[in-house]
Amino acid sequence: MTHKIFNTIAFRLALWFTGIFAICSGVVFVLFYLLATQTLKAQIDQELLDNASKFSAVINRNGLVGARELAVLEAQAAGEKVIFFRLVYPNGEVFASSHMSYWQKVHVSKNALKNLIIGNNNVFETIVIPSTGQKARILYSFVAANAILQTGIAMDSYTRFLSAFKHVFIGAMGFIIIFSVVAGWLLVRKALSGVKAITKTAQNITGNNLEARVTGTGKKDELDHLAITFNSMLDRIEELVKSIREMSDNIAHDLKSPITRIRGFAELALTHEENLEDYRGMASNTIEESDRLLDMINTMLVISRAEAGEGDFKFEKTDLSLMINEACDLFMPLAEDKNLEFKREIIKDPVYIIADIKMLQRVFSNLLDNAIKYTPENGRISVALSLNTRELTITIDDTGIGIEPECFEKIFERFYRAESSRTSSGTGLGLSLARTIVRQHKGDIIVKSRQGRGSVFVITLPYNNLEVI
Ligand code: ADP
Repeated sequence: MTHKIFNTIAFRLALWFTGIFAICSGVVFVLFYLLATQTLKAQIDQELLDNASKFSAVINRNGLVGARELAVLEAQAAGEKVIFFRLVYPNGEVFASSHMSYWQKVHVSKNALKNLIIGNNNVFETIVIPSTGQKARILYSFVAANAILQTGIAMDSYTRFLSAFKHVFIGAMGFIIIFSVVAGWLLVRKALSGVKAITKTAQNITGNNLEARVTGTGKKDELDHLAITFNSMLDRIEELVKSIREMSDNIAHDLKSPITRIRGFAELALTHEENLEDYRGMASNTIEESDRLLDMINTMLVISRAEAGEGDFKFEKTDLSLMINEACDLFMPLAEDKNLEFKREIIKDPVYIIADIKMLQRVFSNLLDNAIKYTPENGRISVALSLNTRELTITIDDTGIGIEPECFEKIFERFYRAESSRTSSGTGLGLSLARTIVRQHKGDIIVKSRQGRGSVFVITLPYNNLEVI
């Protein structure tokens, strides 16, 4: 469970959120701390300098005796634990001071005197008073030609302020970290709640339940777009699953009839004692049905291999007008049997293209077969081949039963047969194969039709389509 939480985006974002928040507030606090210490120190230094000038003025006016008195009085006024004054000669010998019982462990620094004599006007030091452990700020300054003032201020309030500041800082940081963890976690969880809904919907979808959809936020944000995309993906999957189901139902149905008939013949042969001629008839019927089955299976294989780009096509230079004429010659007798008028408008000259002739023959056989099959007696069929510089157009026009507009695309699907044509024999694979073959030649096939008035199948192929080699 804990492992799961660590892996969540919400946890990682909350962590980042907290880290960034903590670093930013840390930097702000440190800057503020530095500024506060500098300001306080500057204030103390100024106080020490003011005292030094006061001493210079008194010495100027009243001599060293005045300075002695001033030291005692000033220290008493401010508090003897707060401030001290010591007057020393440049060699370090003390000649006057305020009451020093609190400050007795604070000595005159030889280094500071040396620095002062070298030429520095004022020398500052921060020391720790050995007896109390308190910090103090010390100033050494010339107040007369042969008198140096050593004065110090206890930094109690300064230290207290900084330690209070540190406590506030630590408390505030703790609060900020806890607040940003909780706030970050809640905010990120709220922002990602849409993703959770999508995951839940995806989990609910099983093979049988493809109807579930995600409810969008309606705010046109990223999650709303994700929900819309996810839903349209589901629509597409639902459509595909439906068509696969329909197709497998159709396959089962179409395979069932010939197999039932084959079984019927075999049963008849077993149960009836017929003469040899009857057995021969039954065997030939069985072969015929088996061939139909094999043909269906082979056609399915050709379609799916070609669709997968693994079709066994042999492209070579082919005279299209010759091939169409030959196909028409082949189907002429069938049309005559139904008393159909058969018109041709095919270019006389050879029209060379690069194609798989056997495959294209299957296309035309199928289209001509359909035109004859779905046109009632005394109707008309026309075949035309025309070309312009870029493409070839072949039309197969009939005055047959026609096709409903909503079936214009469906008839090219595997096993689809329109309701009106169920009485005629067929597998529903012919047009699917035709479209696959034509598309392998970089062309296309479409249908235009009016129900009860006839249909026109139009094939377009690129002319001089040498690129298909
Ligand atoms: P089959 O003809 O074996 O049923 P096809 O794939 O060749 O399969 O055709 C699919 C469906 O398209 C047919 O069942 C029929 O409903 C419709 N169809 C095809 N050609 C025509 C046509 N010329 N006139 C009317 N309907 C047609």
